[in-house]
Amino acid sequence: MLTVDDDPAVSRAVARDLRRRYGQTYQIVRASSADEGLAALREIKLRGGRVAVLLADYRMPQMSGIEFLEQAMDLFPHARRALLTAYADTDAAIQAINVVDVDHYLLKPWDPPEEKLYPVVDALVEAWRAAGEREVDEVKVVGHRWSAPSYKVRDFLARNLVPYRWFAADEPAGRRLLEAAGQGPAAVPMVVTPDGRALAAPTTAQIAAAVGLTTAPVRDFYDLVIVGGGPAGLGAAVYGASEGLRTVLVERRATGGQAGQSSRIENYLGFPDGISGAQLTDRARRQAAKFGAEVLTTRDVTALEVRGPARAIRFDDGAELSAHAVILATGVSYRPLTAPGVAELTGSGVFYGSAATEAAACQDTDVYIVGGANSAGQAALFYCRHASTVTIVVRGDSLEHSMSYYLIQQLAAIDNIRVRTHTEVVRAHGTDRLAALTLCDGKSGTQETVPAGHLFVFIGAEPRTDWLDAAVARDDRGFVRTGPDLVSEGRRPAGWDRDRDPFYLESSVPGIFAAGDVRANSVKRVASAVGEGAMAVTLVHRYLESR
Ligand SMILES: Cc1cc2nc3c(=O)[nH]c(=O)nc-3n(C[C@H](O)[C@H](O)[C@H](O)COP(=O)(O)OP(=O)(O)OC[C@H]3O[C@@H](n4cnc5c(N)ncnc54)[C@H](O)[C@@H]3O)c2cc1C
Repeated sequence: MLTVDDDPAVSRAVARDLRRRYGQTYQIVRASSADEGLAALREIKLRGGRVAVLLADYRMPQMSGIEFLEQAMDLFPHARRALLTAYADTDAAIQAINVVDVDHYLLKPWDPPEEKLYPVVDALVEAWRAAGEREVDEVKVVGHRWSAPSYKVRDFLARNLVPYRWFAADEPAGRRLLEAAGQGPAAVPMVVTPDGRALAAPTTAQIAAAVGLTTAPVRDFYDLVIVGGGPAGLGAAVYGASEGLRTVLVERRATGGQAGQSSRIENYLGFPDGISGAQLTDRARRQAAKFGAEVLTTRDVTALEVRGPARAIRFDDGAELSAHAVILATGVSYRPLTAPGVAELTGSGVFYGSAATEAAACQDTDVYIVGGANSAGQAALFYCRHASTVTIVVRGDSLEHSMSYYLIQQLAAIDNIRVRTHTEVVRAHGTDRLAALTLCDGKSGTQETVPAGHLFVFIGAEPRTDWLDAAVARDDRGFVRTGPDLVSEGRRPAGWDRDRDPFYLESSVPGIFAAGDVRANSVKRVASAVGEGAMAVTLVHRYLESR
């Protein structure tokens, strides 16, 4: 554990308190300037040591705590990070936290440490331990920098919080790995597991199985099956398993859903300094596992059927799973941007949602973001640290109708962020990767082609629930109708066979519930999705009691 503070008295006090509780297991290193701290980290790296926790003072003369943590992350990306701030600096620290992915901030003084310091450091240590073991067993990925399949592999590993090392296939180290595996260029992207197995151009399901993510259920009948592993699904898994239901969650890609793509969620209760989607997902997944929920990834649910009292789901490979009750928490997906060239370059400079793995590649490039909602604003704040310029492109005349005031203020204060209103992307150019975009001014009709390294698309979302077919009632946009929405003029939905109305989150079929963004008329927020996941579990209990 390393702590850095330029005030010798504070520095000694932090180190003393840390030693008292963690000294038996961890070495506590104390530095009195950011430079000294970085030098210590380099030495630890050279010696092959590991760093669990970094605590840095926010206000230091030569280099701020934020800058220090940013540089420290290059050396020890898996170390958990906290910022020490004085009360007067809280606001500034919270603003600055947007710049670097800090886990916590601690107010000075932290007396008594049992209440104010140790719970925070305990949480940091626990999070580091959970990821730390995998840190040693590294997965290797050999791929092409600008290829969509290579991006898909990196994105999948990153979103599942599996640490990996990247090797470019056209560089010596990458070529050596391919040769060692007896493979040629056709094998790219190639994934090498920690035990040395090489997978040529693997599917995400093959990667998941190889890196130890669970893909197969332990049993074939559960109390509760949850489809979708975003905030609503994870919320339901935590509550379902903690309340004694045999619970399985099935996710087609990686847990976290849309929220997992967010670089910083600032309005979720209990995280005054914001939390990244990846951290929130990591915590929720561990919490669900702690209570005994099974979480299956890379399994796509393609059908839902009622079989007497059982509710059955089918996977894309034909396998099935049954339960007493089902919660649909499949959220929404981005609508595609239909401008010519976009589809061909998706994954090669064009990305839907935020692609955290692309941050370094944005260095000194011009980044374009399409969309005017909070998600687009957060992405702009994230990429402006790396890119030369970030331009938000919106059709409307301002961001005010679609984006929170606090985000608009933050964007306005950053020099390299621009907003182009009344503008649309009408073409993407590039052969093997995005090189330029043609933008059209909706007012004047004039077109302009601008160089562009990256395009991140954040436009409206749709539920993609076609696979449900007629299993449950949906509205004309595909959202699942529930509870009061299903009862019109006292008439219950067609086929309803109970002498009660559907519960609030219950669909047109008893025992099948919907929670989160996929539900018709839901509030599209992390907190409401988590809340609905929890509430759906209570209604599952009521359903089970009333059968
Ligand atoms: C970049 C970004 C930033 C955001 N920032 C904020 C914010 O700061 N604050 C806030 O309150 N909200 C924010 N939101 C909105 C918030 O993330 C969503 O409202 C929330 O994630 C909805 O949760 P959900 O679980 O209902 O659905 P989702 O998050 O959409 O999750 C659904 C999951 O279901 C899976 N799935 C879908 N179909 C299937 C299937 N057939 N089989 C198996 N799995 C399936 C998907 O892969 C996905 O993982 C943001 C959204 C984005 C995209």
